[in-house]
Amino acid sequence: MSPDKDRLPFDTVLPLPKFSIGVGDRFGREAATQLTACRMAAERGVSVIPVWNKSNREHKIVGSAPSSVRAAADAAVRELGWREPYFVDADHISLETVDPFADPCDFFTIDVADAIGKPVPDSEAQAFCGAHPELFDGAAPEFGAVVPSLSREQVLETARLFLGAVRQAAQVYRRIVHLRQGRPFVTEVSMDETSEPQTPAQLLVILAALADERVPAQTIAPKFTGRFNKGVDYQGDVAQFEREFRGGVAALGYAVKRYGFPDNLKLSVHSGSDKFSIYPAIRRVLLDSGAGVHLKTAGTTWLEELIGLAEAGGEGLTIAKEIYRGAWEHREELCAPYAAVIDIDSGRLPSPEEVQSWSGRQFAAALRHDPANSGYNPHLRQLLHVGYKIAALMGDRYLEALDRYREPVARNVTQNLFERHIAPVFLGI
Ligand SMILES: [Zn+2]
Repeated sequence: MSPDKDRLPFDTVLPLPKFSIGVGDRFGREAATQLTACRMAAERGVSVIPVWNKSNREHKIVGSAPSSVRAAADAAVRELGWREPYFVDADHISLETVDPFADPCDFFTIDVADAIGKPVPDSEAQAFCGAHPELFDGAAPEFGAVVPSLSREQVLETARLFLGAVRQAAQVYRRIVHLRQGRPFVTEVSMDETSEPQTPAQLLVILAALADERVPAQTIAPKFTGRFNKGVDYQGDVAQFEREFRGGVAALGYAVKRYGFPDNLKLSVHSGSDKFSIYPAIRRVLLDSGAGVHLKTAGTTWLEELIGLAEAGGEGLTIAKEIYRGAWEHREELCAPYAAVIDIDSGRLPSPEEVQSWSGRQFAAALRHDPANSGYNPHLRQLLHVGYKIAALMGDRYLEALDRYREPVARNVTQNLFERHIAPVFLGI
């Protein structure tokens, strides 16, 4: 064991606390209402650090700039007198998109899923194996107890599959270091937006390669087994997920000791929001292992805004119905960029005419993710989840409604984040 051998560049590391939650805020109006949910956790003795994430894709669709997320986060922190750390995440950035995020963000989710399988010279994959006998010679006791070791041949195969992606991550990391000019940040490496899950053993190979490239990652987001569709529950084998998550935690623990990663290195679950059925599994592993986690939710906060508007009635409900009509009419173009992460049966979408006849309560019941409510419609929910462009096109009319109906909007945003996400994962209630 010689973690000092290739000691990672800690001078770039801005430490990320043990428990953190990634929150999206499409329209930048809910930072304070989201932060209120973190404050509720703090009042119960558990520190859950907010990370405001917004991807390049979202910025383009809404027409916002990365600096707006920083401004909203800073304002919310001032307003609530939040004294703990907080972060702004350049979500799923690449070498092509990172530059405008470099100044306002201090958390970077480097997405290299596209580079998985990118060919590398075979001599380099062989050299990697030669340099890392610990990956296949059974020298890793903490790891081997939970995750089956790989053979040399399997490590070689894994290296061939992932070395290109790791090198791409390193390139982006170095670009951020250059642009940040000495200001530290959090590095996350994500490979979740791909079809094949990565096993814990593969994850360890990836981490060894990241250490070789001197990337001091603090979080890593693998693809876990199952489907993580946006805004709806997990679909897959929960027991298998739990085994992978537990194995991943063990792999990370070994990587900290063996390769010298920051000792807060943790898994990041890009949940796409609302993966209620795996929350107890995550909670169990956190309790058993003492590990931390970054739970990234998606942009479902804006759905809570819509629920609040619908419940308010009047102009709020009118706007909610108009947005549904617009989303329904443009459903094909709205769904296209998200095709891999949504699953909508058009035949189960109510017509705009039917929705027109609904009360605010009916609209809210159809949209709110409460599987116990017979009015809940996951197809409508997913369509509206990707339909934020329709609200963006309404411009000030939508934003003014958020101000006018602040109380029901804020109540829904805070309650959803606290009761459905923070409480089950971080508080176990
Ligand atoms: Zn992701």
